[in-house]
Amino acid sequence: MLRGANVMRIVWLPGSDLLEGECHCGARHVAEEPAALWEWLLTHPEGHHPVDPPVTATPLPAAPESAPVPV
Ligand SMILES: [Zn+2]
Repeated sequence: MLRGANVMRIVWLPGSDLLEGECHCGARHVAEEPAALWEWLLTHPEGHHPVDPPVTATPLPAAPESAPVPV
């Protein structure tokens, strides 16, 4: 589980077909479609600033070619 000031997460609500998204500002929203939840999370205007897309929604950036390769 990610920890931090700007973490947004989406969790499945057991026993339903619904997902609940929680913004780092504490706002919550329930929807069926993950895409709809992310859109809400990224656009809802209540008391927070727009942030970069959450880490969980995007692949990790490739390591720079100059970085040492882990063995
Ligand atoms: Zn928020």
